[in-house]
Amino acid sequence: MKIKKHIISQKEHQISRNAISENALKVLYRLKDAGFQAYLVGGGVRDLLLGKKPKDFDVATDAHPEEVKRLFRNCRLIGRRFRLAHILYGRDVIEVATFRGPHEGEKNSHADRNKEGRITRDNVFGSIEEDAVRRDFTINALYYNIRDDSIIDFTGGMGDLKSKTIRMIGDVQTRYREDPVRMLRAVRFAAKLDFRMEAETHALIFDLKHLLEDIPVARLFDESIKLFQGGYGRHCFHLLRDYQLFEVLFPITEAALNNVHSGTRNAPALVMIEQALNNTDARIAIGKSVNPAFLLSVFLWHPMLDYKQRFIDMGEHEMEALNSASREVITRQHAFTSIPKRLSLIMREIWHMQPQLQHPTRKRALRTLQHKRFRAAYDFLLLRQSMGESDLAIWCAWWTAIQTKTPIEQEKMCANLGNAPKKSKKYKKRRKRIIT
Ligand code: ATP
Ligand code: MG
Repeated sequence: MKIKKHIISQKEHQISRNAISENALKVLYRLKDAGFQAYLVGGGVRDLLLGKKPKDFDVATDAHPEEVKRLFRNCRLIGRRFRLAHILYGRDVIEVATFRGPHEGEKNSHADRNKEGRITRDNVFGSIEEDAVRRDFTINALYYNIRDDSIIDFTGGMGDLKSKTIRMIGDVQTRYREDPVRMLRAVRFAAKLDFRMEAETHALIFDLKHLLEDIPVARLFDESIKLFQGGYGRHCFHLLRDYQLFEVLFPITEAALNNVHSGTRNAPALVMIEQALNNTDARIAIGKSVNPAFLLSVFLWHPMLDYKQRFIDMGEHEMEALNSASREVITRQHAFTSIPKRLSLIMREIWHMQPQLQHPTRKRALRTLQHKRFRAAYDFLLLRQSMGESDLAIWCAWWTAIQTKTPIEQEKMCANLGNAPKKSKKYKKRRKRIIT
């Protein structure tokens, strides 16, 4: 790729210092005053130029990580594969990266590639030009210079912002091979910004998507969270499916989506996922929190039901089968995007509370209402109802109503419920075995 330095002066662009967070400015000023180069770079510049509020601010400098650490008391150095400085202001983190340089053909202790061309270590420092061409997309490689408020564009990012294009910097194939996660990033930015991919950036995803199979599952989990919990999850979901990348991250869900039930596609699974993503996007838009366990429990609900049926066919009782199926489906998904234990526990609670919500009994309803996972399990029940499980309507209404009542009224509502059907001795013995 030809590098042509293009400087856009302060008068020619619309970023004002006021739009940059106070903490990011503090970091930029201190680096500059200590005699280093200091630039705002990445999503911060891109989003400001698009008139959007940046999620976070990243800084690039010629100061080495140790030099950054000496300048800031609130600094932590992180990462082995890619050493970075984090400057911490309470919960706000400003990421400071030293300019990276090329390491083609070099054999040294700071850089490594594996045999597929994937970069496994990247700590060779370089100049700002070199740093620019090592970034992923042109729109992510614009540098806002704190010295004179100009923007430096080495790769044509300004033009691509105007034409709404996601364009990989350099040779597309090499860059995807270096880091296959860039395919997921391309999709994420296309969805987030409503941009189109440049032809090769687009086409090579279909040829190279298998390379994602070698990426550590923990990193794929982190990327999934960014894809689905960034506030534009529904758009990401559709694009991922168009690019056949959803099946790389969630193959079990993809199989359920394509499941042929008497000649029709499994529409309920699709409707449920779309609805959940809509709800998630809407919550994020108004600043509400979202727990990834909820979406995961939606993604894996239909596969879990299929497994449950298999366990029932093998002779297990309802609850026993639910338990076995939950475990099975989570273990399988864990091999594609790791699922942290704290989340899988919540997923199982959401699923396991569904029978209690569908068939509340006099003895247990109040306890269900007070369960710490009630809210999530109730939202899940509403979602199931809204996609057509019509027999749930009466109980959705009941649980909606009981939440607005006083404790005495709640007890009355529960007293009107029936008892659980008597369980056989054999069942009780088996249930004890499941629980312990
Ligand atoms: P957002 O923060 O809105 O998700 P971003 O563009 O800031 O988007 P980050 O993941 O915060 O994305 O990364 C910051 C910058 O670092 C990117 O804009 C890009 O220049 C560079 N970058 C991040 N990941 C990669 C990668 N895998 N390959 C090359 N460059 C990358
Ligand atoms: Mg960022």
